[in-house]
Amino acid sequence: MGVLAYNYKRKNLSFVRGKGSYLISSSGEKYLDFVQGIAVNSFGHSNKKLNEAILKQSKKLWHVSNAFKIPEGEKLAKKLVKRTFADSIIFQNSGAEATEAAIKVARRYFYSIGKPNKTRIICIKNSFHGRTLAAIYASGSKKMTEGFGPKIPGFDHFEFGNHKKLKSLVNKNTAAIMVETIMGEGGIKVIPSWCVKYLRDLCTKKKILLILDEVQCGIARTGKFFAFEYAKVKPDIVPIAKGIGGGFPIGAVLMTNKVAKAMTPGTHGSTFGGNPLAMAVGNAVMDQIDNNLLKKINSNSTYFLRNLELLKKKYPKIIKNIRGKGLLIGIQLWDDQTKFIKKLMENKLLTIRAAENVIRILPPLNVKKKEIDLAIEIIGRVCQKY
Ligand SMILES: *Cc1c(COP(=O)(O)O)cnc(C)c1O
Repeated sequence: MGVLAYNYKRKNLSFVRGKGSYLISSSGEKYLDFVQGIAVNSFGHSNKKLNEAILKQSKKLWHVSNAFKIPEGEKLAKKLVKRTFADSIIFQNSGAEATEAAIKVARRYFYSIGKPNKTRIICIKNSFHGRTLAAIYASGSKKMTEGFGPKIPGFDHFEFGNHKKLKSLVNKNTAAIMVETIMGEGGIKVIPSWCVKYLRDLCTKKKILLILDEVQCGIARTGKFFAFEYAKVKPDIVPIAKGIGGGFPIGAVLMTNKVAKAMTPGTHGSTFGGNPLAMAVGNAVMDQIDNNLLKKINSNSTYFLRNLELLKKKYPKIIKNIRGKGLLIGIQLWDDQTKFIKKLMENKLLTIRAAENVIRILPPLNVKKKEIDLAIEIIGRVCQKY
């Protein structure tokens, strides 16, 4: 046993510092980092504005209890409310906590309107909502739940795209449908806009809640602030995390007034959630997300995807498919992707795996075109020698 448990299969590589899209390893080598902590470092490493924000706040006040008002949190909540469907927000520290809070809010809403039996949540099989007990059973993955019984009840599952099954699962005890708008760990599987609309309509018709997990695909990652904006729908509850902290652990659950009203004093809480230090960073992330950035994400995405499609055409026996939206990109190989990811790493490009033989590519949102060029060049080089 190591001093760190073996719950991660770590690569034999560590880093001493980073700047923007690049990381410097402990042996002094420079890597193009298109993992960015798994869609976490929205503005790359060592972003000047984030550095300034955390330094400034660290000299004033790190942490106070949620028993007191936290103006930095109110400021960030106002910005999120202004930009999104949400009326009200609870801050957390991670994605799993945010999805758990989303489940709690959905159940508490029905409890508060006198329908305490409406507790069941419908999810996609083999999705990903985090690693807490409820979240692994919500994800419906055998691998993630194995050995962690007893099973947490209350979740029903349908296979991605199986609308018939989905419809059959909705019953009088259903509280909500909870899906990732784009399945990240699941292999960058995009739910088409017409399906997201269908989910909204179904939830409205059945008087249940729509929870869209945007922990990975939210916060401008897809070229819109939320991925569901492409479908022009309004969900009821949205957990976020990853990108909103720019590298600092922040999670949140965004809600409409209708459901937020159920979260009366004492119903939920978190010691660290929304503390001044975290909120200062979150504010500095939000301040850097404007229409110019979204435009740039979209043009860079189009450019990146077009070039990846060209590589797919050139190497049809290696690359099966190009997936994704914005800067949430997947290269699906015909075979297991492990060796390919290793080769990319040897060529100083960092990427990360997802299900279905997919190589996930997650550049910072402010990635430069020449960095995309470099990535394309490296991927092409690896294909050529593969
Ligand atoms: C990463 C992720 C989570 C869990 O976030 P943690 O911060 O690791 O707890 C939940 N949902 C989705 C869609 C994610 O990608």
